[in-house]
Amino acid sequence: MFDKNVALLSEPASGDAEKHVQILMVEDDYQDVQLLKALLSQQEYCLDAMTHAQSISEALDCLRSSGDSIELVILDLSLPDAQGLDAYHKICSSCSEVPIIIHSGNIDESIAIEAVQRGAQDYLVKGKFDGHLLGRTIRYALERHQQYLELQSEKLKLQAITAALQHSNQQLEVTNQALEQLATIDELTQIYNRRRFDEVLWAEWRRLAREDSPLSLIMCDVDHFKAYNDTYGHPAGDACLQQVAAAIANIVQRPADLVARYGGEEFAFILPNTDLKGATHIAKDIQAAVQRLNLPHLASSTGDQVTLSLGVASMIPHQDVSPVQLVEAADRALYTAKRLGRNQTQVSLPDLESAITEVRQASHKAKEFCQTLKHARSSLARSLEPAKQQRVPQLRW
Ligand SMILES: [Mg+2]
Repeated sequence: MFDKNVALLSEPASGDAEKHVQILMVEDDYQDVQLLKALLSQQEYCLDAMTHAQSISEALDCLRSSGDSIELVILDLSLPDAQGLDAYHKICSSCSEVPIIIHSGNIDESIAIEAVQRGAQDYLVKGKFDGHLLGRTIRYALERHQQYLELQSEKLKLQAITAALQHSNQQLEVTNQALEQLATIDELTQIYNRRRFDEVLWAEWRRLAREDSPLSLIMCDVDHFKAYNDTYGHPAGDACLQQVAAAIANIVQRPADLVARYGGEEFAFILPNTDLKGATHIAKDIQAAVQRLNLPHLASSTGDQVTLSLGVASMIPHQDVSPVQLVEAADRALYTAKRLGRNQTQVSLPDLESAITEVRQASHKAKEFCQTLKHARSSLARSLEPAKQQRVPQLRW
């Protein structure tokens, strides 16, 4: 049980000056209660707003039933059901948001310091303070606590802002990933575009150069596609490319494989860790997949349906060589397939590629030699110029 207004030793000075602070006094000593009330009254605190509890259990009941109206606790540390800082801990754990002033007969300074370190607003030793000091202690405790609450409020706002920013950043990241994905997808066929093809080709070239493993490339071209557009119209041409793309995209299943629209009616496959034999096998599957579509193409001189020409090339990448060589090799094979009648697969032979490289290198060296020879002739001509200027005496016999 707790009672109110147990004793009133002096009246407040005036109604206007009364300080209405909801104080819970936790004190089991009647004399101490009277003394505190007298001092508070002298400082014009309204005793009607004061509640008294004689034990920790009564104090906890009071705090629960007060509905957060208690603004300050003055706590004795020697109570029937708790002693020392245990009393403080029990009250504090129940109402951490209410400022607590310790009012104790214990003059042990270490206890006072520890109480303040644990969050008590102040430590008053019984009989060692007057009304003025008590009033000031209460005022400072309330002010500090108000500042603490404001800081807590700002901290919560800051946390909310931080959480909102993190959420925004996450959404931005998702949006960026979606945009990045969109930037690498061909709008018409919904397979990867040329930009993605170039990125992956260079990345795989560098990776497989380190692994000393083959990288294969298949270039495909829809045969007589201009004639298809001229015959069936561009919307039908677009639909044709979409169907071809969907059919050939299903051929490769490994995560590192990539199929892209290289440009116009041309498609390209990047096949890491695949040799020429494996790539040629895949090229046959691609060609067969398009044949199974059975798309009519009456304007084709190759057949009566849409067909593909394919060029296959394979190399073991080297860090000092550009992957453009692989693209050019596959392109040459594709050109050969077209030249030999289309609707077929041709491979770029490694021996042929080596020969082409050697011829290019020899051609380059020959050009350099010719240039050197030309400079030498010019130098010789300049050195002979003074001699030419001199008149040569005509010999007469
Ligand atoms: Mg006591």
